[in-house]
Amino acid sequence: MAGFVEGAGRQQAMLFPETLDDYVGEANPVRVVDAFVEMLDLAALGFRTAAKETGRPGYHPGLMLRIYVYGYLNRIQSSRRLETECGRNLELIWLTSRLQPDFKTIANFRKENGPAIRKVCRQFVLFCRDMSLLDADTVAVDGSRFKAVNAKSKSFTLEKLRRKTKDIDAGIARYMAELVRADAAEAEGGQPLPKGRLERLARKLSFLVREAEETRAMQARMEASGETQVSLTDPDARSMTTTARHPRVIGYNVQSVVDAEHHLIVAHEVTMQGFDRGALSGMAIAAQEVMTTDDLHAVADKGYYSSEQLLACERAGITATVPKPNTSGAGARGQYDRADFVYDAESDTYACPAGKALTYRYARAEDGLQMRRYWTNACPGCPLKSMCTTGTERRMRRWEHEDVLERVQQRIADDPLIMRIRRQTVEHPFGTIKAWMGATHFTMKRLKNVATEMALHVLAYNMKRVMKILGVPAMLAALQASTAPARPAAW
Ligand code: SF4
Repeated sequence: MAGFVEGAGRQQAMLFPETLDDYVGEANPVRVVDAFVEMLDLAALGFRTAAKETGRPGYHPGLMLRIYVYGYLNRIQSSRRLETECGRNLELIWLTSRLQPDFKTIANFRKENGPAIRKVCRQFVLFCRDMSLLDADTVAVDGSRFKAVNAKSKSFTLEKLRRKTKDIDAGIARYMAELVRADAAEAEGGQPLPKGRLERLARKLSFLVREAEETRAMQARMEASGETQVSLTDPDARSMTTTARHPRVIGYNVQSVVDAEHHLIVAHEVTMQGFDRGALSGMAIAAQEVMTTDDLHAVADKGYYSSEQLLACERAGITATVPKPNTSGAGARGQYDRADFVYDAESDTYACPAGKALTYRYARAEDGLQMRRYWTNACPGCPLKSMCTTGTERRMRRWEHEDVLERVQQRIADDPLIMRIRRQTVEHPFGTIKAWMGATHFTMKRLKNVATEMALHVLAYNMKRVMKILGVPAMLAALQASTAPARPAAW
């Protein structure tokens, strides 16, 4: 191969052997992983750092954590693949000082240290805060459905179970009828069914009978427990609707809050709820705890619209902006809708399209909210009545804290681009993390384990973002400056 760059001979001895460190450049991201784990107080986070007094010494949690952080940073989530990489990947060999735990040990570490690993993710968010990366005053909240280790065919709602039972019963009836017909034909001196066919029928029948028993037992368990869904592989996974194109996944709903300036995930939570309504204030308050601003602005899509949640945000000092979903349909029918009635706080009345004042009549609780009622006696003689109401008069309902909702809508009217900022801020991290996860999202089962996996993904995402923003050398310097304990000599 004369004329081309040539490598060193494989058998050639080196006079001055190279060190492992020579293979890992100064700006290699693996050094960030090392420095980050180094700065953590693992015992305070809940990892077991004391060596066992008896038996074979275990691997230090710092080592195991390094393997996982590196793995998630490089899209290697499987414990078996991590074991392999520990033996052939120079960066991992450098990171682990040539130790190679087996896949079982690697898998057990993730399973047994879930709460501590989740705290590690938060530690990195706090590091970002120390680096003045969380100074933005706007965050976007969103949820996305991630697939669980559970096939659609192994997940049932009560309705689906009832349908399945009906189908199985119909199948049993069909096979039974066929057997009865064959018996009758044989009794009348006709040709008996071939033996092979009879055996096939009997096999199918016994399979269906078994399936019917299992389905009925499952249905009875659900009816007794009040559960509306059951997933056979991962019992915590839930059937969730997503978009029109991908209508249903069996999985988890991951809520996240992303800052609008650096696009870092400042808070996240894995939930079993298939909807976002009810998650706004919790997520916004979680973000408020780590963001440096005193005046946090949280933006979310209309799936988060909830009167109580918006009130909770305002009471927590968070300015929330969520568009109101239009559920009335009056406007589409060419009738006056709520927006055509203007409230006057001073007189506590609504001005209707005919210029009449709808006055306060009484208040009552509806779905836990105190609602005030307004109407005018002028409706029966009003020329606009056909476009307004089919009842005797048009009645307006007003929540006792409606002013909170009006301020939210005013903010959207004042800044129509705010929803675009929401989309640009929060949807990208989800897309990126899902691309890293591949076709199957989570690899573990049960909520607590899936939450650990998500924490590692979020940590990896944030780390990559910060490496991009600060650059590896600056990030390394910052991490080393905050290094607390010395590396234990145990490994
Ligand atoms: S029907 Fe009543 S509320 Fe509606 S426009 Fe006429 S007066 Fe106003």
